[in-house]
Amino acid sequence: MKRIAIIGAGPIGLEAAIAAMDGGFEVEIFERGKVADAVRQWGHVKMFSPFGMNSTARGRERLERSGASLPESNELLTGAEFRERYLLSLARSLPPDVLHEDTAVLAIGRSGVLKGDHIGESVRGNTRFRMLTRNATGDERVVNADVILDCTGTYTQPNGLGDGGIPAPGEGAARDRIFYGIPDFIGRDGKRFAGRRVLVVGAGHSGATAVTGLVELGSAETHWLLRRDRALPSEEIPDDPLPERSRLAAKSNRLVQEGRVTLHRAASIESIANLNGALPVRIATPNDEYSLVIDEIIVATGFRPDLMLARELQVQTCWATEGTYPLAASLLGEAGADCLKTPAFGAEMLMHPEPNYFTLGMKSYGRAPNFLLRTGHEQIETVLDWLSEKESSTITITSRSTR
Ligand SMILES: Cc1cc2nc3c(=O)[nH]c(=O)nc-3n(C[C@H](O)[C@H](O)[C@H](O)COP(=O)(O)OP(=O)(O)OC[C@H]3O[C@@H](n4cnc5c(N)ncnc54)[C@H](O)[C@@H]3O)c2cc1C
Repeated sequence: MKRIAIIGAGPIGLEAAIAAMDGGFEVEIFERGKVADAVRQWGHVKMFSPFGMNSTARGRERLERSGASLPESNELLTGAEFRERYLLSLARSLPPDVLHEDTAVLAIGRSGVLKGDHIGESVRGNTRFRMLTRNATGDERVVNADVILDCTGTYTQPNGLGDGGIPAPGEGAARDRIFYGIPDFIGRDGKRFAGRRVLVVGAGHSGATAVTGLVELGSAETHWLLRRDRALPSEEIPDDPLPERSRLAAKSNRLVQEGRVTLHRAASIESIANLNGALPVRIATPNDEYSLVIDEIIVATGFRPDLMLARELQVQTCWATEGTYPLAASLLGEAGADCLKTPAFGAEMLMHPEPNYFTLGMKSYGRAPNFLLRTGHEQIETVLDWLSEKESSTITITSRSTR
Protein backbone atom coordinates (compact mmCIF):
# COMPACT_ATOMS: atom_id res chain seq x y z
CA MET A 1 0.00 0.00 0.00
CA LYS A 2 1.29 3.52 -0.82
CA ARG A 3 2.29 5.75 2.09
CA ILE A 4 2.54 9.54 2.44
CA ALA A 5 4.30 11.65 5.08
CA ILE A 6 2.47 14.89 5.94
CA ILE A 7 4.29 17.67 7.79
CA GLY A 8 2.00 19.88 9.90
CA ALA A 9 -1.36 18.96 11.46
CA GLY A 10 -3.06 22.27 10.70
CA PRO A 11 -6.40 22.46 8.86
CA ILE A 12 -4.75 21.50 5.56
CA GLY A 13 -2.51 18.73 6.92
CA LEU A 14 -5.49 17.11 8.67
CA GLU A 15 -7.75 17.31 5.63
CA ALA A 16 -4.91 15.95 3.49
CA ALA A 17 -4.52 13.02 5.87
CA ILE A 18 -8.15 11.90 5.69
CA ALA A 19 -8.28 12.43 1.93
CA ALA A 20 -5.09 10.38 1.48
CA MET A 21 -6.43 7.57 3.66
CA ASP A 22 -9.71 7.58 1.71
CA GLY A 23 -7.59 7.31 -1.45
CA GLY A 24 -5.98 4.13 -0.17
CA PHE A 25 -2.67 5.63 0.92
CA GLU A 26 -1.04 4.97 4.26
CA VAL A 27 -0.34 8.16 6.10
CA GLU A 28 1.75 9.58 8.91
CA ILE A 29 1.48 13.20 10.12
CA PHE A 30 4.25 14.97 12.01
CA GLU A 31 3.20 18.01 14.05
CA ARG A 32 5.70 20.25 15.83
CA GLY A 33 3.23 21.23 18.56
CA LYS A 34 -0.33 20.14 19.25
CA VAL A 35 -3.04 19.66 16.61
CA ALA A 36 -3.71 22.90 14.68
CA ASP A 37 -1.15 24.75 16.75
CA ALA A 38 -1.15 27.91 14.62
CA VAL A 39 -4.97 28.11 14.70
CA ARG A 40 -4.77 27.71 18.49
CA GLN A 41 -2.44 30.72 18.64
CA TRP A 42 -4.88 32.98 16.77
CA GLY A 43 -7.89 31.24 18.34
CA HIS A 44 -9.38 34.51 19.63
CA VAL A 45 -9.77 35.88 16.08
CA LYS A 46 -13.13 35.56 14.36
CA MET A 47 -12.78 33.93 10.95
CA PHE A 48 -14.14 35.86 7.98
CA SER A 49 -15.26 32.82 5.99
CA PRO A 50 -18.09 30.58 7.25
CA PHE A 51 -17.60 27.06 8.57
CA GLY A 52 -18.92 25.49 5.36
CA MET A 53 -16.03 27.08 3.44
CA ASN A 54 -13.43 26.19 6.03
CA SER A 55 -14.24 22.48 6.14
CA THR A 56 -14.61 19.77 3.49
CA ALA A 57 -17.63 17.58 2.74
CA ARG A 58 -15.29 14.63 3.28
CA GLY A 59 -14.35 15.82 6.77
CA ARG A 60 -17.91 16.71 7.79
CA GLU A 61 -19.28 13.37 6.56
CA ARG A 62 -16.55 11.48 8.36
CA LEU A 63 -17.42 13.16 11.66
CA GLU A 64 -21.19 12.98 11.14
CA ARG A 65 -20.90 9.24 10.54
CA SER A 66 -19.40 8.96 14.03
CA GLY A 67 -22.30 10.96 15.49
CA ALA A 68 -20.52 14.31 15.92
CA SER A 69 -22.58 17.49 16.05
CA LEU A 70 -20.95 20.07 13.78
CA PRO A 71 -21.35 23.85 13.42
CA GLU A 72 -23.87 25.14 10.87
CA SER A 73 -22.45 25.73 7.41
CA ASN A 74 -22.99 29.52 7.62
CA GLU A 75 -21.60 29.92 11.16
CA LEU A 76 -18.70 32.33 11.62
CA LEU A 77 -16.43 30.73 14.18
CA THR A 78 -13.41 31.99 16.03
CA GLY A 79 -10.19 30.10 15.39
CA ALA A 80 -10.58 28.39 18.78
CA GLU A 81 -14.13 27.26 17.96
CA PHE A 82 -13.03 25.99 14.55
CA ARG A 83 -10.26 24.01 16.24
CA GLU A 84 -12.37 22.63 19.09
CA ARG A 85 -15.55 21.87 17.14
CA TYR A 86 -13.95 20.47 13.99
CA LEU A 87 -10.15 20.10 13.75
CA LEU A 88 -9.65 18.27 17.04
CA SER A 89 -12.47 15.88 16.10
CA LEU A 90 -10.80 15.22 12.75
CA ALA A 91 -7.55 14.45 14.57
CA ARG A 92 -9.34 12.12 16.99
CA SER A 93 -10.91 10.28 14.04
CA LEU A 94 -7.47 9.21 12.77
CA PRO A 95 -6.35 5.65 13.44
CA PRO A 96 -3.73 5.20 16.19
CA ASP A 97 -0.11 5.89 15.24
CA VAL A 98 -1.00 8.14 12.29
CA LEU A 99 -0.51 11.45 14.12
CA HIS A 100 2.75 12.30 15.88
CA GLU A 101 2.26 15.44 17.98
CA ASP A 102 5.22 17.27 19.55
CA THR A 103 7.37 15.98 16.69
CA ALA A 104 9.07 18.61 14.57
CA VAL A 105 10.51 17.89 11.17
CA LEU A 106 13.86 19.66 11.15
CA ALA A 107 15.18 18.92 7.66
CA ILE A 108 14.37 16.93 4.53
CA GLY A 109 16.77 15.37 2.06
CA ARG A 110 16.95 12.32 -0.17
CA SER A 111 18.71 9.09 0.60
CA GLY A 112 22.09 8.89 -1.16
CA VAL A 113 21.34 11.94 -3.31
CA LEU A 114 22.52 15.52 -2.81
CA LYS A 115 20.70 18.67 -3.83
CA GLY A 116 22.91 19.12 -6.87
CA ASP A 117 22.56 15.56 -8.19
CA HIS A 118 20.29 14.66 -11.15
CA ILE A 119 19.19 18.25 -11.63
CA GLY A 120 15.46 18.38 -12.36
CA GLU A 121 15.41 14.68 -13.29
CA SER A 122 12.64 12.31 -12.29
CA VAL A 123 15.28 9.71 -11.38
CA ARG A 124 15.57 11.54 -8.04
CA GLY A 125 12.20 9.97 -7.24
CA ASN A 126 13.80 6.52 -7.24
CA THR A 127 15.36 7.18 -3.84
CA ARG A 128 13.46 7.90 -0.66
CA PHE A 129 13.14 11.14 1.27
CA ARG A 130 14.98 11.31 4.60
CA MET A 131 13.35 13.53 7.22
CA LEU A 132 15.11 14.39 10.47
CA THR A 133 12.50 14.61 13.24
CA ARG A 134 12.78 15.55 16.91
CA ASN A 135 10.17 14.91 19.59
CA ALA A 136 9.50 16.77 22.84
CA THR A 137 12.00 14.69 24.79
CA GLY A 138 14.74 15.47 22.29
CA ASP A 139 14.76 12.05 20.60
CA GLU A 140 15.83 12.38 17.00
CA ARG A 141 14.79 9.93 14.30
CA VAL A 142 15.32 9.69 10.58
CA VAL A 143 12.05 8.95 8.80
CA ASN A 144 12.22 7.72 5.23
CA ALA A 145 9.32 8.46 2.90
CA ASP A 146 8.63 8.64 -0.81
CA VAL A 147 5.91 11.29 -0.90
CA ILE A 148 5.93 14.42 1.26
CA LEU A 149 3.11 16.91 1.66
CA ASP A 150 4.58 19.99 3.35
CA CYS A 151 1.62 21.63 5.12
CA THR A 152 3.65 23.67 7.63
CA GLY A 153 1.99 27.06 7.05
CA THR A 154 3.75 30.37 7.68
CA TYR A 155 2.31 31.61 10.97
CA THR A 156 5.44 31.41 13.10
CA GLN A 157 7.53 33.47 10.66
CA PRO A 158 6.30 37.10 10.80
CA ASN A 159 7.67 39.65 8.35
CA GLY A 160 9.96 42.42 9.61
CA LEU A 161 8.85 45.89 10.67
CA GLY A 162 11.36 48.18 9.01
CA ASP A 163 11.62 49.80 5.59
CA GLY A 164 12.44 47.34 2.82
CA GLY A 165 11.09 44.40 4.84
CA ILE A 166 14.16 44.15 7.05
CA PRO A 167 14.04 44.66 10.82
CA ALA A 168 14.06 48.32 11.86
CA PRO A 169 17.04 49.54 13.91
CA GLY A 170 16.00 49.02 17.52
CA GLU A 171 13.30 46.44 16.67
CA GLY A 172 15.19 43.62 18.38
CA ALA A 173 15.89 45.66 21.53
CA ALA A 174 12.22 46.73 21.79
CA ARG A 175 10.91 43.20 21.23
CA ASP A 176 9.04 42.98 24.54
CA ARG A 177 6.94 45.99 23.45
CA ILE A 178 6.23 44.64 19.98
CA PHE A 179 3.41 42.16 19.30
CA TYR A 180 3.57 40.15 16.06
CA GLY A 181 0.07 39.06 14.94
CA ILE A 182 -3.35 39.96 16.33
CA PRO A 183 -3.56 40.35 20.12
CA ASP A 184 -6.38 38.83 22.17
CA PHE A 185 -7.80 42.19 23.27
CA ILE A 186 -10.75 40.84 25.25
CA GLY A 187 -8.66 38.08 26.81
CA ARG A 188 -5.05 37.64 27.80
CA ASP A 189 -3.64 40.75 26.05
CA GLY A 190 -6.31 43.29 27.07
CA LYS A 191 -4.37 44.78 30.00
CA ARG A 192 -1.29 45.27 27.88
CA PHE A 193 -3.03 47.57 25.37
CA ALA A 194 -5.90 49.25 27.31
CA GLY A 195 -5.22 52.96 27.85
CA ARG A 196 -1.95 52.79 25.90
CA ARG A 197 -0.67 54.61 22.82
CA VAL A 198 -0.42 51.94 20.15
CA LEU A 199 0.93 51.89 16.60
CA VAL A 200 -0.42 49.20 14.24
CA VAL A 201 1.83 48.52 11.25
CA GLY A 202 0.41 46.88 8.13
CA ALA A 203 -2.83 46.90 6.19
CA GLY A 204 -5.00 43.96 5.23
CA HIS A 205 -7.40 41.92 7.31
CA SER A 206 -5.00 41.58 10.26
CA GLY A 207 -4.26 45.31 10.44
CA ALA A 208 -7.98 46.14 10.27
CA THR A 209 -8.76 43.58 12.99
CA ALA A 210 -6.06 45.00 15.26
CA VAL A 211 -7.15 48.61 14.77
CA THR A 212 -10.85 47.97 15.41
CA GLY A 213 -9.99 45.77 18.40
CA LEU A 214 -7.86 48.53 19.93
CA VAL A 215 -10.58 51.15 19.58
CA GLU A 216 -13.18 48.82 21.12
CA LEU A 217 -10.78 48.03 23.96
CA GLY A 218 -10.13 51.71 24.69
CA SER A 219 -6.54 52.45 23.73
CA ALA A 220 -5.38 56.00 24.57
CA GLU A 221 -4.24 56.60 20.97
CA THR A 222 -4.47 54.31 17.95
CA HIS A 223 -2.10 54.94 15.04
CA TRP A 224 -2.13 52.96 11.80
CA LEU A 225 0.92 52.98 9.55
CA LEU A 226 0.62 51.91 5.92
CA ARG A 227 3.31 51.56 3.30
CA ARG A 228 0.82 52.42 0.56
CA ASP A 229 -0.58 55.88 -0.06
CA ARG A 230 -4.28 55.24 0.60
CA ALA A 231 -6.77 57.59 2.21
CA LEU A 232 -8.88 54.57 3.19
CA PRO A 233 -6.67 51.72 4.38
CA SER A 234 -9.01 48.75 3.84
CA GLU A 235 -10.14 47.73 0.38
CA GLU A 236 -13.93 47.42 0.28
CA ILE A 237 -15.01 44.89 -2.35
CA PRO A 238 -18.35 45.75 -3.99
CA ASP A 239 -21.04 43.12 -3.17
CA ASP A 240 -18.50 41.16 -1.16
CA PRO A 241 -19.75 37.56 -0.79
CA LEU A 242 -17.93 37.40 2.57
CA PRO A 243 -20.01 39.77 4.76
CA GLU A 244 -17.66 39.55 7.75
CA ARG A 245 -14.71 40.70 5.63
CA SER A 246 -16.79 43.53 4.21
CA ARG A 247 -18.00 44.62 7.65
CA LEU A 248 -14.45 44.76 9.02
CA ALA A 249 -13.11 46.74 6.05
CA ALA A 250 -15.92 49.31 6.29
CA LYS A 251 -15.58 49.64 10.06
CA SER A 252 -11.81 50.16 10.00
CA ASN A 253 -12.14 52.81 7.27
CA ARG A 254 -14.88 54.57 9.23
CA LEU A 255 -12.64 54.78 12.31
CA VAL A 256 -10.03 56.57 10.20
CA GLN A 257 -12.63 58.95 8.71
CA GLU A 258 -13.98 59.76 12.18
CA GLY A 259 -10.48 60.57 13.41
CA ARG A 260 -10.51 57.83 16.04
CA VAL A 261 -7.55 56.22 14.31
CA THR A 262 -4.65 58.36 13.07
CA LEU A 263 -3.41 57.26 9.67
CA HIS A 264 0.26 57.47 8.66
CA ARG A 265 0.20 56.71 4.94
CA ALA A 266 2.99 56.15 2.41
CA ALA A 267 5.09 55.75 5.53
CA SER A 268 7.89 53.54 6.77
CA ILE A 269 9.61 53.01 10.10
CA GLU A 270 13.20 54.22 10.15
CA SER A 271 14.06 53.35 13.74
CA ILE A 272 12.67 52.56 17.19
CA ALA A 273 14.19 53.78 20.43
CA ASN A 274 13.37 52.80 24.00
CA LEU A 275 13.26 55.88 26.23
CA ASN A 276 12.20 55.62 29.86
CA GLY A 277 9.47 53.13 29.00
CA ALA A 278 8.17 55.00 25.94
CA LEU A 279 8.97 54.10 22.33
CA PRO A 280 9.88 57.07 20.13
CA VAL A 281 9.43 55.78 16.58
CA ARG A 282 11.03 57.60 13.66
CA ILE A 283 8.62 57.64 10.70
CA ALA A 284 9.51 58.63 7.13
CA THR A 285 7.11 59.67 4.36
CA PRO A 286 8.07 60.90 0.87
CA ASN A 287 8.08 64.55 2.06
CA ASP A 288 8.67 64.35 5.78
CA GLU A 289 10.36 62.59 8.67
CA TYR A 290 9.02 62.82 12.21
CA SER A 291 8.93 61.13 15.60
CA LEU A 292 5.88 59.50 17.15
CA VAL A 293 6.00 58.48 20.80
CA ILE A 294 3.98 55.39 21.60
CA ASP A 295 3.91 52.59 24.19
CA GLU A 296 3.33 49.47 22.09
CA ILE A 297 3.61 48.34 18.47
CA ILE A 298 1.46 45.69 16.77
CA VAL A 299 3.02 44.23 13.63
CA ALA A 300 0.48 43.03 11.07
CA THR A 301 2.80 42.86 8.08
CA GLY A 302 2.10 39.23 7.24
CA PHE A 303 4.18 36.09 7.31
CA ARG A 304 6.82 34.31 5.26
CA PRO A 305 7.46 30.59 4.74
CA ASP A 306 10.33 28.67 6.34
CA LEU A 307 12.33 27.65 3.30
CA MET A 308 15.11 26.02 5.33
CA LEU A 309 13.07 22.86 5.88
CA ALA A 310 13.46 21.71 2.27
CA ARG A 311 16.78 23.41 1.57
CA GLU A 312 18.44 20.15 0.50
CA LEU A 313 15.71 19.43 -2.08
CA GLN A 314 15.26 20.86 -5.55
CA VAL A 315 12.50 23.24 -4.60
CA GLN A 316 11.49 26.15 -6.80
CA THR A 317 9.89 29.14 -5.16
CA CYS A 318 8.87 32.49 -6.58
CA TRP A 319 11.52 35.17 -6.11
CA ALA A 320 8.86 37.72 -5.18
CA THR A 321 6.54 35.79 -2.87
CA GLU A 322 8.46 32.61 -1.97
CA GLY A 323 5.34 30.62 -2.92
CA THR A 324 5.54 27.42 -4.99
CA TYR A 325 6.76 28.76 -8.32
CA PRO A 326 4.14 27.84 -10.95
CA LEU A 327 1.27 28.65 -8.58
CA ALA A 328 2.89 31.88 -7.39
CA ALA A 329 3.44 33.10 -10.94
CA SER A 330 -0.26 32.76 -11.69
CA LEU A 331 -1.22 34.39 -8.38
CA LEU A 332 0.93 37.44 -9.10
CA GLY A 333 -1.42 38.28 -11.92
CA GLU A 334 -4.28 38.12 -9.41
CA ALA A 335 -2.69 40.34 -6.76
CA GLY A 336 -5.47 42.08 -4.88
CA ALA A 337 -7.62 41.77 -1.83
CA ASP A 338 -10.11 39.25 -3.18
CA CYS A 339 -8.93 35.77 -2.28
CA LEU A 340 -12.12 34.32 -3.79
CA LYS A 341 -10.72 35.10 -7.24
CA THR A 342 -7.99 32.47 -7.14
CA PRO A 343 -7.32 31.04 -10.60
CA ALA A 344 -8.07 27.37 -11.29
CA PHE A 345 -5.02 25.13 -11.16
CA GLY A 346 -3.92 21.55 -11.74
CA ALA A 347 -1.29 19.43 -9.99
CA GLU A 348 1.43 20.81 -12.26
CA MET A 349 0.95 24.24 -10.63
CA LEU A 350 1.93 22.72 -7.29
CA MET A 351 4.97 20.76 -8.46
CA HIS A 352 8.57 21.45 -7.61
CA PRO A 353 11.45 20.02 -9.65
CA GLU A 354 11.79 17.59 -6.71
CA PRO A 355 9.56 14.60 -7.53
CA ASN A 356 6.80 13.77 -5.04
CA TYR A 357 7.39 16.80 -2.81
CA PHE A 358 4.37 19.11 -2.61
CA THR A 359 3.79 22.27 -0.63
CA LEU A 360 0.10 22.62 0.24
CA GLY A 361 -1.95 25.16 2.18
CA MET A 362 -0.84 28.57 3.39
CA LYS A 363 2.82 27.84 2.68
CA SER A 364 2.15 27.23 -1.02
CA TYR A 365 1.20 30.93 -1.28
CA GLY A 366 4.46 32.03 0.34
CA ARG A 367 4.12 35.65 1.46
CA ALA A 368 0.95 36.25 -0.56
CA PRO A 369 -1.70 37.01 2.08
CA ASN A 370 -4.82 35.92 0.24
CA PHE A 371 -4.82 32.16 0.83
CA LEU A 372 -8.19 30.61 1.65
CA LEU A 373 -8.76 27.21 3.23
CA ARG A 374 -11.15 26.47 0.40
CA THR A 375 -8.21 26.75 -2.02
CA GLY A 376 -6.16 24.41 0.13
CA HIS A 377 -8.95 21.82 0.00
CA GLU A 378 -8.84 21.98 -3.82
CA GLN A 379 -5.06 21.57 -3.73
CA ILE A 380 -5.40 18.39 -1.68
CA GLU A 381 -7.87 16.77 -4.07
CA THR A 382 -5.80 17.80 -7.10
CA VAL A 383 -2.54 16.38 -5.78
CA LEU A 384 -4.06 13.17 -4.45
CA ASP A 385 -5.85 12.54 -7.74
CA TRP A 386 -2.53 13.01 -9.50
CA LEU A 387 -0.70 10.70 -7.09
CA SER A 388 -3.41 8.06 -7.43
CA GLU A 389 -3.16 8.11 -11.19
CA LYS A 390 0.59 8.16 -11.28
CA GLU A 391 2.29 4.89 -11.93
CA SER A 392 4.72 4.50 -9.09
CA SER A 393 6.94 1.98 -7.51
CA THR A 394 6.22 0.81 -3.96
CA ILE A 395 6.16 3.76 -1.59
CA THR A 396 7.28 3.13 1.95
CA ILE A 397 7.96 4.92 5.20
CA THR A 398 10.43 3.41 7.63
CA SER A 399 12.07 4.95 10.65
CA ARG A 400 15.31 4.47 12.53
CA SER A 401 16.08 5.82 16.01
CA THR A 402 19.39 7.65 16.45
CA ARG A 403 19.38 7.55 20.25
C1 LIG B 1 -5.68 35.39 12.10
C2 LIG B 1 -5.98 34.58 10.86
C3 LIG B 1 -7.29 34.42 10.43
C4 LIG B 1 -7.57 33.67 9.29
N1 LIG B 1 -8.87 33.53 8.89
C5 LIG B 1 -9.15 32.79 7.79
C6 LIG B 1 -10.51 32.60 7.37
O1 LIG B 1 -11.46 33.11 7.96
N2 LIG B 1 -10.73 31.83 6.27
C7 LIG B 1 -9.71 31.24 5.56
O2 LIG B 1 -9.99 30.55 4.58
N3 LIG B 1 -8.43 31.43 5.92
C8 LIG B 1 -8.12 32.18 7.01
N4 LIG B 1 -6.81 32.37 7.38
C9 LIG B 1 -5.72 31.92 6.48
C10 LIG B 1 -5.37 30.41 6.54
O3 LIG B 1 -6.46 29.65 6.10
C11 LIG B 1 -4.92 29.95 7.92
O4 LIG B 1 -3.67 30.54 8.20
C12 LIG B 1 -4.79 28.41 8.06
O5 LIG B 1 -4.47 28.11 9.38
C13 LIG B 1 -3.74 27.82 7.12
O6 LIG B 1 -3.75 26.42 7.29
P1 LIG B 1 -2.45 25.51 7.04
O7 LIG B 1 -2.83 24.14 7.47
O8 LIG B 1 -1.95 25.72 5.67
O9 LIG B 1 -1.31 26.10 8.01
P2 LIG B 1 -1.28 26.26 9.59
O10 LIG B 1 -2.63 26.42 10.16
O11 LIG B 1 -0.29 27.33 9.86
O12 LIG B 1 -0.73 24.86 10.11
C14 LIG B 1 0.61 24.48 9.97
C15 LIG B 1 0.94 23.44 11.03
O13 LIG B 1 2.25 22.94 10.78
C16 LIG B 1 2.95 22.84 12.00
N5 LIG B 1 4.40 22.93 11.70
C17 LIG B 1 5.08 24.01 11.26
N6 LIG B 1 6.36 23.70 11.05
C18 LIG B 1 6.50 22.38 11.36
C19 LIG B 1 7.61 21.48 11.34
N7 LIG B 1 8.83 21.87 10.95
N8 LIG B 1 7.40 20.19 11.73
C20 LIG B 1 6.15 19.77 12.11
N9 LIG B 1 5.08 20.60 12.16
C21 LIG B 1 5.25 21.88 11.77
C22 LIG B 1 2.43 24.01 12.82
O14 LIG B 1 2.65 23.81 14.21
C23 LIG B 1 0.95 24.00 12.45
O15 LIG B 1 0.18 23.18 13.29
C24 LIG B 1 -6.51 33.09 8.54
C25 LIG B 1 -5.19 33.26 8.98
C26 LIG B 1 -4.92 33.99 10.13
C27 LIG B 1 -3.48 34.14 10.57
